[in-house]
Amino acid sequence: FSLIRPAMSKFWSPLVNRLTPYVPGEQPKLPNLVKLNTNENPYPPSPKAVAAMQAEIGHDGASLRLYPDPSADRLKEAVAAFYGEFGIGARQVFVGNGSDEVLAHVFMALLQHDAPLLYPDISYSFYPVYAGLYGISAETVALDGDYGIDLSAYRRANGGIIFPNPNAPTGRLLPLGEIEALLTANTESVVVVDEAYVDFGGDTAIALVNRFPNLLVVHTLSKSRSLAGLRVGYAVGHPDLIEALERVKNSFNSYPLDRIAIAGAVAALEDRAWFDRTRNAVIASREQLVSDLTLLGFQVLPSAANFVFARHPGRDGAELAQALRQRSIIVRHFKAPRIDQFLRITIGTDEQCGALVAALKEIL
Ligand code: PMP
Repeated sequence: FSLIRPAMSKFWSPLVNRLTPYVPGEQPKLPNLVKLNTNENPYPPSPKAVAAMQAEIGHDGASLRLYPDPSADRLKEAVAAFYGEFGIGARQVFVGNGSDEVLAHVFMALLQHDAPLLYPDISYSFYPVYAGLYGISAETVALDGDYGIDLSAYRRANGGIIFPNPNAPTGRLLPLGEIEALLTANTESVVVVDEAYVDFGGDTAIALVNRFPNLLVVHTLSKSRSLAGLRVGYAVGHPDLIEALERVKNSFNSYPLDRIAIAGAVAALEDRAWFDRTRNAVIASREQLVSDLTLLGFQVLPSAANFVFARHPGRDGAELAQALRQRSIIVRHFKAPRIDQFLRITIGTDEQCGALVAALKEIL
């Protein structure tokens, strides 16, 4: 075997030879690492979710002989109940193996049109990957001078619009009123709001779903529910949009969620007290970190997420990331234009954030 991966192989399909896959943030396993690079939650998931998963396995794992519910109805009901104040029903919910998989279904089912898909030029880097995978034409829309999304620039012919709110990796939040204005103007294509981080400071657009049949809101249990390892995400929208996603899903994998994931996700959604406690702790640590970084001379973009995006006028971003790494602190640095001086720092525990600030004081 060659240890060097071939650029292409005659055994690969033409599709595989064309792909430019997403490169996930690294998951290093060094001891004593302060890992602030992939926006995981520093707190454990709800103890009730852990107990529910253990109960699902049982003492002998007998339930795992059986296939899970292919439509994960209990989970759809739990999502609908969580957003009961907005009058959401289980038929308005689609679930998948992480929101990445939900997004893959969205690209296949709802965004294959002649006009280009629009998304911000600085945004979640899986969007161009999925557009490439499914052969969807796409155009990016530049962020404004303050690294914010200007939705008025999306009012042109399009085959769909997708953006995260808060945006990643900037952390900047759009108010719901601006999304509502876009939806009022853009009625002919699907608008997807990727709310992976909304629980750390934003209002969810699920509030608008029953007024706009072309709105789809995508959520994950990876961030605010500390379950990145379980891989659960969902989408909320009009039943017609959900039906399209189900059709693609049933042509692809009829059992996307396993029994353990369904049990854990339901219990996590039901434990509102744990959800509120842990996300409020992350928000409080974020506010402290923003003020500490500002005192050190960093420019920190306003963040409504569980990370901050910051640059230091006197120091190169790549060098800072490297200097932190030498002190066993891992943050994310992007080589992309316009943001290559920034660090994206996940909010850890107060102790982890303290270690970061102490290391930066040494470095600067
Ligand atoms: N959307 C955005 C904006 C993200 O940052 C992430 C996390 N990388 C995801 C979706 C996917 O999260 P997951 O697949 O863990 O649900």
